[in-house]
Amino acid sequence: MFKKVLIANRGEIAVRVIAALREMGIRSVAVYSEADRECLHARLADESVCIGPPPAIQSYLNIQALIAAAEVTQSEAIHPGYGFLAENPRFAEVCHDCGLVFIGPDASMMEKLGDKIAARNLAHKAGIPILGGTLDPVADARSATALARKLRFPVILKAAAGGGGRGMRVVTDEREFEPVFLSASEEAEKAFGDGRLYLEKYLENPRHVEIQIMADRKGEVLYFPERECSIQRRHQKLLEESPSPAVTPSLRKKMGECAVKLMKMAHYEGAATVEFLLDEDGLFYFMEVNTRIQVEHPVTEEVTGVDLIQAQVAVAAGERIAPLRKRLQPLGHAIEFRINAEDPKTFVPSPGKVTGLVWPGGPGVRVDSHLYAGYTVPPHYDSLLAKIIVRGADRAEAIRRARRALSCTVVEGVKTSIPLFLRILDNAAFAQGDLSTRFLERQAIV
Ligand code: ADP
Repeated sequence: MFKKVLIANRGEIAVRVIAALREMGIRSVAVYSEADRECLHARLADESVCIGPPPAIQSYLNIQALIAAAEVTQSEAIHPGYGFLAENPRFAEVCHDCGLVFIGPDASMMEKLGDKIAARNLAHKAGIPILGGTLDPVADARSATALARKLRFPVILKAAAGGGGRGMRVVTDEREFEPVFLSASEEAEKAFGDGRLYLEKYLENPRHVEIQIMADRKGEVLYFPERECSIQRRHQKLLEESPSPAVTPSLRKKMGECAVKLMKMAHYEGAATVEFLLDEDGLFYFMEVNTRIQVEHPVTEEVTGVDLIQAQVAVAAGERIAPLRKRLQPLGHAIEFRINAEDPKTFVPSPGKVTGLVWPGGPGVRVDSHLYAGYTVPPHYDSLLAKIIVRGADRAEAIRRARRALSCTVVEGVKTSIPLFLRILDNAAFAQGDLSTRFLERQAIV
């Protein structure tokens, strides 16, 4: 096993990885930007290295600085967390070339699955259902219009290199199609340096259901109980739960086996998530693969008791995943709330000093966060402050617990998404598990 691991990330996920490493008896090395000197991850780790100025491009995305920090501290491996360089094949490759273990898949697997068009093709080849649309990048506006007409509007244009809810445009009307296509392709070129777009049928009222997998070097792939992540704003997740109220054991098995088949075809190693859309008839369609740990991994940990970060580290060190086989059935129900520093109505970021802070506790409540009273949330990064995760014997108990936990949480000095969650928890459709990716607008919650 590794003796020392560097975490190429910040905030809550860096704190989460430090915790996993400490339990494994592995020393942790934090990196921080000049804006993050006071951030909890830099204080908690066994060692900390400043890697540059506040803008991420000069610090958390600076491959040279990260590798230098790993070399100076004699780290053996790098955990990338999520975001920043976690899905950057070049980073994985440089780590490898420098003799560092990248805790994640190798660069070629990342390329194969990270490109949404390549992943869609692989899923199709594996016989996994995909939505109608194109398998190749769309060549020009005219042929794309003809295709969109054939699929019937609404359709969705997606950037091959998109992610995090960016690079997607829904088109409801043929007349809008050409201008939207042109601007989407230009935007994708600017944002990702890759203007390739593909076209997919847009489902009006689907659920987002995803399967966490873990794969070891010997080719064994296990799937975990699904997560439902339908509560979103602007195609970004806000609340996630496991298991999904819409998934039966037989559907779970079908989706899980599809995910495993895909990852076996890719000869995958490490943690990944295969994302699907589930329609109102219970049919599911492959959407994309994330080749890293996800923000919402704790709900899976809470219903299975498996520490997914520790499993990632163990797999990267060459260990087998067989011992996890016995722990793949969901026990109870877990819900995660993403506490963002933002206005709960407009979603405008709200950085600033946290003047008062009280976290909830008690049975079935977990808080993953880097926040402390007196900490100033810098404006440079993601607005995620914390994740409050509740667990109950069933969904109803988890909801009661969530209401109790969120109503006694105090975060002063910055606005947070907590008031929005309290409204969701009091919503009758939510209580019934009647969810869709358009839940917030359909229920007039925002
Ligand atoms: P990203 O990589 O940016 O997260 P995804 O492909 O995972 O993008 O899609 C994010 C969200 O966008 C989904 O959870 C869903 O709400 C919506 N979405 C994506 N494709 C479709 C589609 N074909 N029909 C309806 N909604 C979609």
